[in-house]
Amino acid sequence: MENIYDVVVIGAGNGGLSAAATAAKNGLKTLLVEQHNLPGGFATSFRRGRFEFEPSLHELCDLGPEENPGDIRKLLERLDVKIEWVPVPEAYRVITTNEGEDNLDVTMPFGVDAFVDKMEEYVPGSRPSMEKFMTLCQNIMDALAYIGKSAGKADSKVLMKEHPNFLKCGGYSVNQVLKAIKMPKKAQRILSAYWCYFGVDGEMLNFAIYGAMVYKYLTRGAYIPKNRSHELSAAMDRRIRELGGDIWYNTRAEKIIMENQKVTGVITDHGVIKCSHVIACCSPNAVFGEMMEKDDVPEKQTRMVNARKFGGRGFVVYLGLNKSAEEIGLTDYSYFIYESLDTVKEVARAKDFNSHPIQATVCLNAANPECSPEGTCIMSFTTFYSEDVWGNIGADEYVEKKREVALNMIRDFEKNVGVSLIPYIEEIEIATPVTMARYTLNPQGTMYAYECSGWDTMLARLMMLEDDQIVSGIRFAGGYGPRIYGYSSTYLNGEMTAKLTIADRRENAK
Ligand SMILES: Cc1cc2nc3c(=O)[nH]c(=O)nc-3n(C[C@H](O)[C@H](O)[C@H](O)COP(=O)(O)OP(=O)(O)OC[C@H]3O[C@@H](n4cnc5c(N)ncnc54)[C@H](O)[C@@H]3O)c2cc1C
Repeated sequence: MENIYDVVVIGAGNGGLSAAATAAKNGLKTLLVEQHNLPGGFATSFRRGRFEFEPSLHELCDLGPEENPGDIRKLLERLDVKIEWVPVPEAYRVITTNEGEDNLDVTMPFGVDAFVDKMEEYVPGSRPSMEKFMTLCQNIMDALAYIGKSAGKADSKVLMKEHPNFLKCGGYSVNQVLKAIKMPKKAQRILSAYWCYFGVDGEMLNFAIYGAMVYKYLTRGAYIPKNRSHELSAAMDRRIRELGGDIWYNTRAEKIIMENQKVTGVITDHGVIKCSHVIACCSPNAVFGEMMEKDDVPEKQTRMVNARKFGGRGFVVYLGLNKSAEEIGLTDYSYFIYESLDTVKEVARAKDFNSHPIQATVCLNAANPECSPEGTCIMSFTTFYSEDVWGNIGADEYVEKKREVALNMIRDFEKNVGVSLIPYIEEIEIATPVTMARYTLNPQGTMYAYECSGWDTMLARLMMLEDDQIVSGIRFAGGYGPRIYGYSSTYLNGEMTAKLTIADRRENAK
């Protein structure tokens, strides 16, 4: 039997799942192919002994509570995908280990007023600039909503008239804007603690994107699925099938067939599929560099791929501990441990191995007490590398190196939080960028797709959506898409890409 579909989605990461669900819901004959035997990509779970670990998600931005729904809750409602959520208790605790004025240990709450009040406690006199920051963030959110709706055709007159603050600060970096609004240095640094979620320093990180994320966290809080992110990926899988879509697991897309510069099919290791559209939830490097014939790839696209830089490559230590969080003394959910809050210095440290890697560490039980058997708890310690340092580690050094990094991170945590972990380790697993590359096929194990900085920010990508369609019939969902990486962004990328594909089909039919 011939396999004929309207659209083939390559990769069941978050972006691929929401793209496939949206396409199927809108009547497209949809096939999702995934090389692994499970949905989700990074959004999954794994078991060791009596523990089920969350491999990636620390906090989902923009779900929001039922009474103040964010874009992701609305998206899941549109797709009719339901799961159980638990709220994350506080915004973050940030600890810096350098001696002197840089030395900090602060815990920041969710809620705009609570956050501003807490900052005033830690940094007296910060209130006026913090209030200015919050107003700018609200202005940016309004402007981004307008740009999102305009599908790459934002009218500069509307932007000038209705969103002047966005134009004033949207093109600047986080550091430039915080300095311009005269925020005290210490407050700037505390406020920048989320920088590691982008893997980009405050000089390069676009203010509009950072401000929008911080504001969403503060106004809507953060959430995690009760049963790890696999619960959400599995719910998406069910919904795609209910909507009439097909999913083939253990199936790898190998080639995209083009005729007269148009997509006509996809070759997989399970046969050929005819289709006129591809939504790729995988890297443009793979699509243009491996899946297409050189002559079919426009020069502009090759230049674009070569000009972009991969984002941070992830490294995670997962611990199942045979004592409860309370017994160990873990009072918080989310801990950032840096040497200093000078983001430029911290990113420079992430370029190579060092004995005190930056860390974003989570104790899952602090948000979700039932996530592990009574008297136990689960922790994960994440760091990232802004260069491909693991690519230079030979097979003979690999095991030793990953143990060394893991031990440094656990010991740093013990020392700086003042708790003991090593005697209570029942299960330990370590994922390096090599693990992540093998598991998700992301080049160099990048957890952040292409770095969102300098000229290649989310705004620039959203403003040139038209250009995205340089190869007729191929669009990118997932972390490489216009709305960049992260859970909420990839789900939104998937939906947007499916809608654009539907519009492409209408255009082609004219
Ligand atoms: C340790 C860690 C912590 C993180 N924490 C957070 C967080 O707290 N909050 C947040 O918002 N984000 C977080 N992220 C980032 C987030 O997980 C990713 O941005 C997001 O999951 C990427 O989704 P994606 O749609 O790009 O697909 P991916 O997860 O990259 O999945 C791609 C899928 O495509 C499949 N595939 C690739 N090529 C092919 C092919 N040729 N044929 C078939 N299948 C193919 C792969 O097998 C994979 O399943 C974290 C990431 C990591 C690693």
